[in-house]
Amino acid sequence: MLKKEILDKGFIEVVDKLGSDLTVVNSARVSFGKRKTEFDDSDRKLVKFLAKHKHWSPFRHLVVQFHIKAPEFVMRQWYKHVVGIETSSSYATKDHAWNEISGRYVPVTDYYSPSNWRRQSDNNKQASEGSIEEQGDADKIFNDAMKSITEHYEQLLSLGVAKEQARLILPLNQYTEVYWTASFQAIMNFIELRDEATAQWEIRQYAIALKELMMEIYPETVKIWFEVNSGK
Ligand SMILES: Cc1cc2nc3c(=O)[nH]c(=O)nc-3n(C[C@H](O)[C@H](O)[C@H](O)COP(=O)(O)OP(=O)(O)OC[C@H]3O[C@@H](n4cnc5c(N)ncnc54)[C@H](O)[C@@H]3O)c2cc1C
Repeated sequence: MLKKEILDKGFIEVVDKLGSDLTVVNSARVSFGKRKTEFDDSDRKLVKFLAKHKHWSPFRHLVVQFHIKAPEFVMRQWYKHVVGIETSSSYATKDHAWNEISGRYVPVTDYYSPSNWRRQSDNNKQASEGSIEEQGDADKIFNDAMKSITEHYEQLLSLGVAKEQARLILPLNQYTEVYWTASFQAIMNFIELRDEATAQWEIRQYAIALKELMMEIYPETVKIWFEVNSGK
């Protein structure tokens, strides 16, 4: 089972996958009626050529289904990757599928607790850097707030309030779980945008884990993809 633990309670697990390194080259070679059973140097050259010249359709025959557990604020950033999410799209890039655990059915039990309180960046309004000195003070404020919120949530539930309403008081560090199915091309686009210095540290941990999982599933294709696209 391919699985990476992330943050304090999160993970990414590979549920299923379609294709192998050979799939890309065989999808391209169908143009001239050929199919191979072993990946060799001529395939490496072909993958490189395809990636370099933006012949991306062969890369969309590789599809992976992931089970992801991440804090809600991470998933909100992830959901911005929306290629083809609208069901009416006829674009070839229509290849994401999302399903998510429902806080209407299942009470929320897990919350993310950061191990480091980062300082607001001086030169990038969106970013953080380093650590604040008063880690203990920040921990105390955070723990007090979480204790109060979780107790009040439980109290609403025990009054018989529906889960769909009681959750209105819950913060963005609540963990959620999704199944995400996407093509190689869409996954690599996510990694390129989110394993990057300006991305938030927490989503970056997911992008790094995703990159390692993709390396294990499609080692040749991922290696070549990064060779071609590094420094882009
Ligand atoms: C560091 C960082 C900060 C961000 N800050 C903000 C923010 O403050 N507010 C905010 O709203 N968002 C923010 N975003 C999200 C960002 O604007 C994108 O929505 C998100 O990164 C998804 O990227 P994407 O469009 O490449 O992904 P996808 O929607 O998955 O698209 C993948 C690729 O498909 C192609 N594509 C997509 N749609 C079309 C189309 N209609 N026609 C042709 N080709 C298409 C493009 O090549 C695209 O790169 C931020 C992202 C990052 C990485």
